[in-house]
Amino acid sequence: MAGQLSVEDLQRIAEVGQEAERACAGASSEAALEEVRIRYLGRQGVIAQAFRALAGAPAEDRPRLGQLLNALKADVERAVRRRAESLAAETGLTRLAEERIDVTLPGRGPLPGRRHVLSRTMQEMAEIFIGLGFEVVEGPEVEADHDNFERLNMPPYHPARDAQDSFYLGGGWVLRTHTTVVDVHVMERRTPPMRAISYGHCYRRDPVDASHSPMFQQLDGFMVGEGVRFSDLKGVLLHFARAFFGPDTRTRFAPSYFPFTEPSAEMAIGCVICGGRGCAVCKRSGWVEILGCGMFHPRVLELSGIDPERYTAFAWGMGVERLAMLRHRIDDIRLFYEGDLRFLRQV
Ligand SMILES: [Zn+2]
Repeated sequence: MAGQLSVEDLQRIAEVGQEAERACAGASSEAALEEVRIRYLGRQGVIAQAFRALAGAPAEDRPRLGQLLNALKADVERAVRRRAESLAAETGLTRLAEERIDVTLPGRGPLPGRRHVLSRTMQEMAEIFIGLGFEVVEGPEVEADHDNFERLNMPPYHPARDAQDSFYLGGGWVLRTHTTVVDVHVMERRTPPMRAISYGHCYRRDPVDASHSPMFQQLDGFMVGEGVRFSDLKGVLLHFARAFFGPDTRTRFAPSYFPFTEPSAEMAIGCVICGGRGCAVCKRSGWVEILGCGMFHPRVLELSGIDPERYTAFAWGMGVERLAMLRHRIDDIRLFYEGDLRFLRQV
């Protein structure tokens, strides 16, 4: 009978219900709410302990106390469920707020790629010679050892063969060490007069450092005809230097040696970094060498089936990286091949 229940018991049950509801409402996360649930509804929780205490209550009070505890348990369960639902809704709202997209912001445009600085430099160099009537020819990167060396007057015992330190592929094949080898292919197929340039990758077993790379790019050119002279070569290269580096560019030719040219020369330009006053790039000399050149050795013409008594030819070769480095004031060749966008966006 209800009247026989003690006032303290009834008050205690009501208090537990209010406490539990406050705890649920105050739980700020799913983990906190779970703690509340365990505290009241767990196997060792407040309500489970109250049910166990029923055994000690007077027999006539037990049914009514049991009912009240069942009602309390249902109330607390409902409070936990409601708070869980509202927490889930809050989380969803937070995520919505975080993921909100401001459609009025200006869009990010796509980052269009562009041609590599070396490709652009090579193209610019080639166009200068094309403008002088030179034709562009191509050759393979894998060459017969015989073509790459012997036909350019470097027989197997020639010291230049050692110095080149090449990538031999076996079976008489080698990764071409210069684009000059393309010249001999053109000369053997055609009859003079002819003038052509070729460009592309070349390979030498150079250790990598700021100015050496085992893979590099060269642009080579040559001209064969009757009465072709060294002064013609100088004229072509002077025109190139001024077109590429500017009309005030000074040039200087100095004697040099290459097995496939005689005479041979190196061409330098007035240092574009210091204007000739002397700096680290020109090693304080005011001049930077940009290419090697000369008149094709009569033996080279002969080996390609051209009569050296009738025809003469000039040829030159230059490193594309070297020219791009001078043009853009780049001090380390490795930057060209590392693919670092921070570098590529600047040049
Ligand atoms: Zn300088």
